[in-house]
Amino acid sequence: NASRLLGKTVLITGASSGIGAATAILFAKGGCNLILTARRADVLKKVADACTAAHKEAGVQQGGVFSTIQLDVSDKSQIAGLLDRIPAELRNVDVLVNNAGYVLGVERVGDISSSDIEGMFSTNVFGLIAVTQLFINDFKQRKTGHVINIGSIAGREAYAGGSIYCATKHAVSAFTGALMRELVDTPIRVTEIQPGMVETEFSVIRFRGDKSAADKVYEGLQPLVAEDIAEEIVWAASRPPHVNLAEVFVLPVNQA
Ligand code: NDP
Repeated sequence: NASRLLGKTVLITGASSGIGAATAILFAKGGCNLILTARRADVLKKVADACTAAHKEAGVQQGGVFSTIQLDVSDKSQIAGLLDRIPAELRNVDVLVNNAGYVLGVERVGDISSSDIEGMFSTNVFGLIAVTQLFINDFKQRKTGHVINIGSIAGREAYAGGSIYCATKHAVSAFTGALMRELVDTPIRVTEIQPGMVETEFSVIRFRGDKSAADKVYEGLQPLVAEDIAEEIVWAASRPPHVNLAEVFVLPVNQA
């Protein structure tokens, strides 16, 4: 029931594009307040405007406060300062969506640069863990909260040319599973969403800006769109409080 979302406050990392942006707009429609974070502040502002328009169009009374915070989750000092930058009225976060992440390159193990390895781990894994740590004790104290981590099919299986990305998403999966079990005696929910192929900026980044190489990945199948994953995230967040959607694995119909 969508009414369970009314007035909730949701923080999303990587809200400037793709899955994060689509999720923001859907939560806005559902009457939520949002803290939108990502590195590109100008793009984030546009997502906030789209949230305002979606909220207005939905005609819901609750929610509608949309704050943007420029945040690089791989930067420890920025994470340390995050709570102080959240407007007072949005301090009680109900849902944390750890979505920021990327894959850069398709090189084989011997050819991957240490900076690419560090970049992917510090965003996809260390960033996700650090943001979770910021909120988890507050969730425990307030006896509420929902952590939704965006894993991947790459966290369930591994493929040639994806060693580092797959390792990061396996780490996300392991971390999420352990967190859920640690919180078993609390009302806090922990969900992992594992998308297959979703057509976003993700694939272009993977191929270092080569759009035609990025598009080739989708040949012969219809990829998911960001809204498909946003719907799963918002669905998980809107279940009754006693229901924890622990794992959601979503594939395009022709991806196995
Ligand atoms: P996008 O590239 O469209 O979105 C990625 C988002 O992450 C952007 O908003 C980007 O914003 C943000 N981001 C990247 N690095 C950082 C950082 N260091 N700090 C803060 N924000 C960051 O791709 P998707 O929407 O597809 O990706 C979202 C998530 O979904 C990722 O975790 C990805 O691994 C996962 N996923 C995607 C799949 C796909 O096929 N697309 C499949 C399975 C999982 P900015 O650049 O402004 O910081």
